[in-house]
Amino acid sequence: MILNIKTNSRTDMVDITHKIAKAVDESGINRGLVHIYSMHTTAAITINENADPDVKKDIANALDKLIPWEDNYYHTEGNSAAHLKTSLIGTSEIIPIENNKLILGTWQGIFLCEFDGPRNRKVYITFLQS
Ligand code: ZN
Repeated sequence: MILNIKTNSRTDMVDITHKIAKAVDESGINRGLVHIYSMHTTAAITINENADPDVKKDIANALDKLIPWEDNYYHTEGNSAAHLKTSLIGTSEIIPIENNKLILGTWQGIFLCEFDGPRNRKVYITFLQS
């Protein structure tokens, strides 16, 4: 199934945990895995803290320092930094399901990481039952 996610700025970390949890609930799967996949070259998927919103700001700021927007890149579209950040973070995560619930630690949330927004993004969800 596909989730449509709207992002709101060039760099944005959108908490999609509740959407994935709802999809797991509706799948009826008791035990298995969920694969969460960004269908994009400038938007990634990661798991990190969703309790303190400053954590996602720190992640975004650190990535900006590591991979500045302007840096004599070859790619003429002008968004090389977004491509590089996406490859660094990765486009998917796999999370276990038990008793029809996501297995996440207390502070863990699932984020769509936007690096060239704002845009409408597609996240492809696959379930594996075990
Ligand atoms: Zn590009």
